Formats: sequence, structure tokens, C-alpha cells
Amino acid sequence: MYELTVEREFSAAHMMRGHPGACARLHGHNYRVLLTVEGEELDETGILVDFADLRRVFDRILDDLDHRNLNELEPFTQVNPSSEHLARYLYGRAAEALDGVVRVSRVTVCESGTSCVTYREE
Ligand SMILES: [Zn+2]
Repeated sequence: MYELTVEREFSAAHMMRGHPGACARLHGHNYRVLLTVEGEELDETGILVDFADLRRVFDRILDDLDHRNLNELEPFTQVNPSSEHLARYLYGRAAEALDGVVRVSRVTVCESGTSCVTYREE
């Protein structure tokens, strides 16, 4: 089994409705996000999927979030834009975009250098 990971960054504002502390106030993060895909079959050149293609797909998704207030975007008008929900959202978007290309293994969202959430299915 091969796993490939690309790492990107984006910046966004959010606030956590119902949070008892400072996170209930509008604030921002420079998010670091990692997309990992997996597969067993390499192509004739010996790669699972081109890193550049993976970055392009992920960047297109992240462009929708970059320099935005996440609370104003679906589905975060309804559910809190926690890193947990963000990771699951990005997993779903990536799995949809890469359907038929490669299987998405997991998405990790880091809202700081020391605090990360990983979402994977199963
Ligand atoms: Zn926050």
C-alpha cells in the first residue's frame, strides 16, 4: 500500500458558537492542511498519482475557504467550523473531486503548529 501526502496552507476567520472561552469570538488561523491518498497499483511510470495533480485539486477546494469567514460558508452556517468539522468537510470534497482517480485516505487540519485533527473513514 502506498500513501501520498500533500501539504497546503490557507488563512480564514471563524468563531465557535457556544464555545465557553475565547474561541467564541471572531478570530483567525493560518491553517495547515494535509491530504493523504492511498492505493496499491502504480502506473507505468511508477507513481500512484501525480503530486502536481493532487495539489491542483486540493488548492481548488481550499480556494473556496481562503481569506473567508468560515461561519458564512456552507455547511458552517449550520455546524461549527471546528477543525474536526473542517477536516471531515475537506475529506468529503477531496473524495468527490478525486473519485475515479485515487482513494482519499485522510485529511489533517492543523489550526496551530501543535494542534491538529485528522479525519478518516471507517
Ligand atoms: Zn479557532
